[in-house]
Amino acid sequence: MKKKVRSKMGASVAFSRAAVASDVRSYFVDNSGKRWRWVVDNRMRDYGDIDYERRVIRINHAMHKRERESLIDTLFHEELHRLFPSLGERAICAMTRILLPTLSRQYRSWLYSRIRQR
Ligand SMILES: [Zn+2]
Repeated sequence: MKKKVRSKMGASVAFSRAAVASDVRSYFVDNSGKRWRWVVDNRMRDYGDIDYERRVIRINHAMHKRERESLIDTLFHEELHRLFPSLGERAICAMTRILLPTLSRQYRSWLYSRIRQR
């Protein structure tokens, strides 16, 4: 799932295959013991996306800097996709918008640390 209207679903799937292994920033084990990877992929077309089958969340860090887009917004948006896989794009966008201002400093810092350079 991609962030924002400008990104089209599935548009960057072909790109993701080659790039996924490249720049893993963190691992995360979910409640069912499945391991997820957070990856920075500066070649993808979107700000971020999630691959449920391979359990990879990708973030285009360079595009955020270039377009002065909010990184925390995308990190939280993709994390919400992971937490609520059955919700659609509109619901995730609405949740992101409404909940973002309520996040604690600790949780925001946890989100940032998902893609911190190691
Ligand atoms: Zn999305």
